[in-house]
Amino acid sequence: MAKRLPTTALRLFSRRLDTAFSSSFAVGSQPLKLEPAAPTIVDLDDHWKLFASVSTSKLLRSSVNLGFVANETFVDFGMWVMDSRLMETTLVRDVILKTVKHTMFDHFCVGETTEEAGMCIRKIHKAGLRGMLSYAVEHTTNNDGCDRNLEGFIRNVEFSKSLPPSSVSFVIAKMTAICPISLLRRVSDLLRWQYKDPSFALPWKLNTLPIFTNTSPLYHTLEKPEPLTPEEEQDLELAHKRLQKLCQKCVDLNVPLTIDAEDTSLQPAIDYFTYSSAIMFNKDENAIVYGTIQAYLKDSKERLFMASKTAENLGIPMGFKLVRGAYMSKETRAASELGYDSPIHSSIEETHSCYDDCASYMLERIADGNDAVVLATHNLQSGKVAALKARNLGIQRGNPKLEFAQLYGMSEALSFGLRNAGFQVSKYLPYGPVDMVMPYLLRRAEENRGLLSTSNVDRVLMGKELKRRVKSLQFGKAGDELHEGRNRHTIAQIPQQAPRFCSYT
Ligand SMILES: Cc1cc2nc3c(=O)[nH]c(=O)nc-3n(C[C@H](O)[C@H](O)[C@H](O)COP(=O)(O)OP(=O)(O)OC[C@H]3O[C@@H](n4cnc5c(N)ncnc54)[C@H](O)[C@@H]3O)c2cc1C
Repeated sequence: MAKRLPTTALRLFSRRLDTAFSSSFAVGSQPLKLEPAAPTIVDLDDHWKLFASVSTSKLLRSSVNLGFVANETFVDFGMWVMDSRLMETTLVRDVILKTVKHTMFDHFCVGETTEEAGMCIRKIHKAGLRGMLSYAVEHTTNNDGCDRNLEGFIRNVEFSKSLPPSSVSFVIAKMTAICPISLLRRVSDLLRWQYKDPSFALPWKLNTLPIFTNTSPLYHTLEKPEPLTPEEEQDLELAHKRLQKLCQKCVDLNVPLTIDAEDTSLQPAIDYFTYSSAIMFNKDENAIVYGTIQAYLKDSKERLFMASKTAENLGIPMGFKLVRGAYMSKETRAASELGYDSPIHSSIEETHSCYDDCASYMLERIADGNDAVVLATHNLQSGKVAALKARNLGIQRGNPKLEFAQLYGMSEALSFGLRNAGFQVSKYLPYGPVDMVMPYLLRRAEENRGLLSTSNVDRVLMGKELKRRVKSLQFGKAGDELHEGRNRHTIAQIPQQAPRFCSYT
């Protein structure tokens, strides 16, 4: 039984090879047709080559940690404890935070301080990867908190410049860290109402790109909202100023900024802030401000299309990070409480197909010289298919407009496989005090729980590599010769030798 489950997981993740592009991009792009036996340029079978730059201790730790998060009972219990009143008792809280620090936090985060994050970036850079540096604050309720978070974001940008050139691909920010949540909710309500009723005036509104389509979830705003009060308008002005200060810093130091997507109750305001800043700061060829599109949303494809086309018409280079989305249970709960259908695709296959279509569309735009994209996914099939399409479209290695990305602690195999195939690959690197990073960790726990999560593919491959290393220790050099003999055929098929990288510990 224990042996069969990982194999099932592997098979499940390979199955989409023939179905990935069965649907077409309804708003313009040519779907990529893949034959079932289409070649791949990303080799994920050769665990020796994939993990060549990973130390044995790191492999072992990752394998154990991923085992824990795959255990649903363990994760459910952990989530229950963290949500419970037990956290109000100082002693219990301390014990829990310490346990989290040495398990989930060490696995999914790169430290509590910029210095620790810097050490990690240097290591992953030596291993041929880059970092998306994320000071992981979110969900702030007042202006003081927002000001403090802005300082943290600015320090983050400045710090990125002290690291080896090109080791940081992006800095990350969440709008809920620099604009109070209640205001993001109010602005989202007002924007939604204006979409329903274009005569509804919003005197404070800046130039932006399209935020809604007629399939967007408008049920969060069922009644006409009151206009912003003078204090709210003032707070809005402050929030704009914070974001603009951050963008200006990114322009001055030439570090691209990606604004994360959050849940749909707030996302219209987040998109509004992102796009209005992009209009101000994305100049010439360079997108400095990137937005995020969540492909699990039914309206995502059309929104991506409309935003990119409108930006093109305005002569603004736009960048998008493409993700599936991490707020699934929250979205489903909120919609059902209000008596509406979930805004998320009704099947996982639809989400996969939407993600692949959006990726395909963006790759075609890049090939035509427009926009830039971060393909942020752990899904092996999406990664492989996009890599092949990029190669077929002639998108050159090192093209700064295409970046693949995975979260730190997840999908190591895909990161290394894409790197070995010659693409730019980043790891998303959150850092900050443990209690501050907790919401991020809870999302990772939810995402990785269960034996069918993508991380199980990593666990299987890591297990194989660990076994191989133990064997080669037992048999000395013979272990490696054995390995090379076994893989001679596979290696010969790979167009170029994988680069040599230093150890990634
Ligand atoms: C670099 C990077 C940046 C990120 N930034 C953001 C961000 O700004 N905002 C954000 O929300 N997330 C963000 N994420 C997280 C991302 O959304 C999750 O990691 C994502 O859900 C995992 O999807 P995947 O592409 O890795 O695909 P897979 O490994 O195939 O995972 C599929 C996921 O889709 C979910 N799912 C989606 N639709 C359905 C459906 N209809 N039915 C069932 N399950 C479904 C499943 O729960 C599963 O977790 C980021 C991820 C990365 C790598």
